[in-house]
Amino acid sequence: MVLATNLGFPRLGVQRELKWAIERYWSGKISQAEVEKTARELRAKHWKLQSDLGLDHIPSNDFSLYDHVLDTSVMLGEVPSRFRESGELSGLPLYFAMARGLQDSAAGLDIPAMEMTKWFDTNYHYIVPEFKPDQDFSLASKQPVDEFREAKSLGISTRPVLLGPVSFLLLGKMEGGRSTAQLKLLERLLPVYEEVLKLLQKAGADWVQIDEPCLVLDLPEEAHSAFHTAYQRLNAIGLPLLLATYFGGLRDNLSTALSLSMAALHLDCVRQPEELDTVLKQAPAGMSLSLGVVDGRNIWRTNLERAFSLVRRTVDQLGQDRVMVGPSCSLLHVPVDLDIENALDPELKGWLAFAKQKLQEIKAVALQANGRAEEVEDTFEQSRAAIESRSSSPRIHNPAVQQRLRAIDPAMTRRHSPYAERRQRQAATLKLPLFPTTTIGSFPQTKEVRSVRAEWKQGKRDAAAYEAFLREEIARTVRIQEELGLDVLVHGEFERSDMVEYFGEQLAGFAFTQHGWVQSYGSRAVKPPVIFGDVWRPKPMTVAWSSYAQSLTSRPMKGMLTGPVTMLQWSFVRDDQPRALTCRQIALAIRDEVEDLEKAGIRVIQIDEPAIREALPLRRQDWGEYFNWAVAASGVRDETQIHTHMCYSEFQDILDSIAAMDADVLSVEASRSRMELLDAFVHFQYPNAIGPGVYDIHSPRVPKVEEIEDLLRRAAEVLDPSQIWVNPDCGLKTRGWDEVLPSLTAVILAATLMRKDLQSRAGVVFG
Ligand code: GLN
Ligand code: ZN
Repeated sequence: MVLATNLGFPRLGVQRELKWAIERYWSGKISQAEVEKTARELRAKHWKLQSDLGLDHIPSNDFSLYDHVLDTSVMLGEVPSRFRESGELSGLPLYFAMARGLQDSAAGLDIPAMEMTKWFDTNYHYIVPEFKPDQDFSLASKQPVDEFREAKSLGISTRPVLLGPVSFLLLGKMEGGRSTAQLKLLERLLPVYEEVLKLLQKAGADWVQIDEPCLVLDLPEEAHSAFHTAYQRLNAIGLPLLLATYFGGLRDNLSTALSLSMAALHLDCVRQPEELDTVLKQAPAGMSLSLGVVDGRNIWRTNLERAFSLVRRTVDQLGQDRVMVGPSCSLLHVPVDLDIENALDPELKGWLAFAKQKLQEIKAVALQANGRAEEVEDTFEQSRAAIESRSSSPRIHNPAVQQRLRAIDPAMTRRHSPYAERRQRQAATLKLPLFPTTTIGSFPQTKEVRSVRAEWKQGKRDAAAYEAFLREEIARTVRIQEELGLDVLVHGEFERSDMVEYFGEQLAGFAFTQHGWVQSYGSRAVKPPVIFGDVWRPKPMTVAWSSYAQSLTSRPMKGMLTGPVTMLQWSFVRDDQPRALTCRQIALAIRDEVEDLEKAGIRVIQIDEPAIREALPLRRQDWGEYFNWAVAASGVRDETQIHTHMCYSEFQDILDSIAAMDADVLSVEASRSRMELLDAFVHFQYPNAIGPGVYDIHSPRVPKVEEIEDLLRRAAEVLDPSQIWVNPDCGLKTRGWDEVLPSLTAVILAATLMRKDLQSRAGVVFG
């Protein structure tokens, strides 16, 4: 029988119940037992839903209170020593301290969080495991076994999910920088994995899903032998293991994957369907195939006909008993349930499927493959109708946008003059000191800001009153920045709930859901817009706010835009045309805005591309034209200073491409990875100005002046001091004013000290 399976279910709950519980726990309003109760209820609800839908393999241990990679670290006893020093932390407080850092002046504790980074090319963030060369592992938590038992006690037999040992090691970091040295730890790690698998076997699991998504990446040679070593040992236990790969095809890693003697292999047939034929030719006798035919990364209804044709081909070759149907990857990356969605019109809604609907699609394909076609006739018919309605809808196609795209020429992707000339012109008008200070854009979105916006959205406050409120917030924030002594100011982004939503709402071709939440990190979720049609800008989007803010100060006010790659990456993107095309359409719309800001007298414009790294194709071979997609500001005058901001990733390996994008100033996240970025500048001469973030805004910790100064000094060793800007590593919207004010004071003081130091050394006085 062809099995209907799932690889992972969204964790937060349809109303984000987990988020609210965890945040209440953090603020001391509820107890640990209460959070755990909510978590247990959610797990039970999700298992039951999947069981009611008739799934044959339902995942367990796909749940997490913060992140599944952190859970894996905890399970394996990999707790960095700084969290052990206080000696008092354990259980949930230790777990959250690892995720978020811990600052408790009463207890004299000040422990920085573990690093966080993007999970492959998604907008989900994981906590990076930290290894030291003499790292030891031991079974420190039995979460996978406990959750398996928990489901079993509810009468549901599950397939536990583990993050595989090789990916776990590759996703982590060895003390002192990145290398593949961590693979040497495999020998020490495997006994713990063996122990977990044996416990699961004893508890009655008859399948375990073991995720090795790193198999879709360009891999170092050592990784291949690591896979062999690992799975020779783990398969020897005799518990059937499903090796799950996702986010791409296996390509040059295919022969490795096929030679591991796995009981089953999962393929992402959405990202790389054409690989199936090769796999079918080479699949070892006895191995089952799990086909990821329903897109776990997007919200479009599946073309069931097409999905079924892949399944049928596989069944023809392997027989019914060696085939599973599933989502391409865990459904963590899509919202829970389309049924509760009321904000969308019926036509658009009819084109979509969220996690629950995707599981129904999987079940339908499996039933069809099991010869029960009459039961799913309607479902298949609805799928056909949805595909047909989408491809012919006039809401999707705008000839004017397509015409404009065809007219793009290469000159449009370059600035008028080279950076050296622009720099001089900008210096003449902006008159900034050395080590100029700025922020990344947003200031705290306080409860008040959010509730006033909510009132306006619900019609309880009229537009004029809302606008007046925002003007006041802006004016206050401008004054605060002047008092703090920042050099380039921002208006604070109080009018934006979200940097993508704000623009998407004003662009044609975007739609918004009401409940389409997707986990981003820990308790944080985002509600990605849906790009369903050709994108264009009906009218200016930010000019009024930026002009107002500029009118309040003589210092330069930075215009603030979200870049096209980020808009694309943080949205659900149409799958009926190449991503590159959709990206170019957005770039043209942003370009219109840049030109209008310039006309309105804004001299500094920042285009945020925090998602540039995560949107990069996973394989180098596929990079091609990618970096040209992003260029939206090439039409401006030399005097206009273009900033771009990127965060949350490692940029070492793409610095040359980023440099080629030719922004005048790049501000980039660097404080959480302790300025490893700077090492890259030893080998690569970054040509333009750069602000390596000196303060980790994702942690509630207030940085010390000496810390910031130390980071700046290290920056000044590898960069020319005249290149360096001083800024936090991201926007301040998630922080409170009580954290922001002392932090920025420290930032500015550190910049001042750097200036003084440089002056005294050079014996010159700078402006
Ligand atoms: N300008 C945005 C802000 O400050 C940038 C956010 C981001 O990079 N994620 O909020
Ligand atoms: Zn950022």
